[in-house]
Amino acid sequence: MSSRVVVIGGGICGLATAHRLVRAGLPVTLLEASDQLGGLGTFFSSQDRWVERFYHCVMPSDDALLALLDEVGLTDGVGWRPTRMGMVVDGVHRSFNSALDLLRFTPLSLADRIRFGVISLLLRRLGKGKDLDRMRTEDWLRGLYGDKVWSTLLAPMFGAKFGSAFGDVPALYLWQRLGRESNDSVRGYPAGGYKSVIDALRASIEAGGGEVRTSAPVSRVETAPDRVLVTLADGDTIEADHAVSTVPLPALRGIADEDLARRLPEVRLPYQGVVNTLFFLRKPLSGHYWAPVLRSGTDFDGVIEMTPLTGTERYGDRHLVYVMRYTDRESALYREDDASIAERWTEQLLSLHEGLAPEDVDEVRVFKAPFVEPVYPLGYLSQRPAVEVPGTRLMLATTAHVYPNVTSWNSSVELANSVTDLLLRDARRSSTQENTAWPAESAR
Ligand SMILES: Cc1cc2nc3c(=O)[nH]c(=O)nc-3n(C[C@H](O)[C@H](O)[C@H](O)COP(=O)(O)OP(=O)(O)OC[C@H]3O[C@@H](n4cnc5c(N)ncnc54)[C@H](O)[C@@H]3O)c2cc1C
Repeated sequence: MSSRVVVIGGGICGLATAHRLVRAGLPVTLLEASDQLGGLGTFFSSQDRWVERFYHCVMPSDDALLALLDEVGLTDGVGWRPTRMGMVVDGVHRSFNSALDLLRFTPLSLADRIRFGVISLLLRRLGKGKDLDRMRTEDWLRGLYGDKVWSTLLAPMFGAKFGSAFGDVPALYLWQRLGRESNDSVRGYPAGGYKSVIDALRASIEAGGGEVRTSAPVSRVETAPDRVLVTLADGDTIEADHAVSTVPLPALRGIADEDLARRLPEVRLPYQGVVNTLFFLRKPLSGHYWAPVLRSGTDFDGVIEMTPLTGTERYGDRHLVYVMRYTDRESALYREDDASIAERWTEQLLSLHEGLAPEDVDEVRVFKAPFVEPVYPLGYLSQRPAVEVPGTRLMLATTAHVYPNVTSWNSSVELANSVTDLLLRDARRSSTQENTAWPAESAR
């Protein structure tokens, strides 16, 4: 009997991990707490169509994700389109794409506009060779751009994901993010939506003999030197030779037995959650895929208009707009009930867009997620937890491990690849020691 592996969590990281392990011939059971696979990429039904709860797109530099899509036959199914960016400052919506847009950007003085343009072009190069992991983002950017650009533009624009902690996050994170996006305005979206990717991964796991269980929350994880015991909320216990946990570390701490809890990484990262509201509109908004919203009297600080990227057909000829605010899961906004957020944010969106009338809003939905962005401390490269939990056969593959990469499907797939390599090395070693046969790499 070859090593049984349990993967905890059916987001992209768990799905990619299970897919790889099954392809290597191991018997795998994937356990997902909710009734849907996909984690932060899950979806809901509107007018009999599947729509992502949280906006998602693919970048041309997402090599690991694109390779995975290729493996499950979906590469040609990514539609690429040039997208444009806007910027809403003091209630005024502007285009923010070209040198001309920048020259017209009056919230900054002419000298600051020129400085912004020149530094932005050089920024990636200026960061090379610097220890940006130990440098505060605010110190780095304020020094380069000056106080005015920092406080008027950069802090609110890039700080959205981290809130007031943004200035303290290592500058390396922003540097990596600029590398991923690399001023590239081309973005991609899977032709069948993210659900098609999730379905293809599930099909691949099951075709290879793996088991996928949804509505299967894990309530306890116990480790011994040679096995991992995973107990489900319904009392069922699975004894595994190896396990991979993809659930956020604070959630894993809540289900780890005492011994495992002691072995888990000491670093305790705060996480930002997100409150995100979808608007199905009867008319387009601005045509800008992304527009940060600064000082405009709104609770949300960004607007994503999906339809310039995806078209309207998949939403029943409606235009889809997401507005969002990243916030702590304990904040008053996060705890507020969905109906009042929907009502207030609808008014705020209408106030930002004069051409938009209440009757143009067809449907409003609110979704929240508690663990989205780990707020990395300075020097996190040396504190980043190892994926291996010492003295156990449990491995960790979470968003706390992808740094300095940006949290994204691509980073999760890269992480899944490296964790799988390590696990296969260990499983091969134990199968040699125990003199058991290693499975043929064909169970696909
Ligand atoms: C608003 C928003 C916008 C984003 N935009 C993009 C984008 O444009 N492009 C991009 O690539 N990425 C984007 N991301 C980031 C991306 O979604 C995440 O980085 C990625 O989904 C993380 O995947 P994961 O598998 O590590 O975690 P998750 O997706 O969080 O998966 C973890 C899974 O574990 C399950 N789980 C938790 N506890 C248990 C338990 N006890 N037992 C069993 N299962 C459990 C959860 O239900 C969940 O399904 C965005 C995220 C958000 C929120």
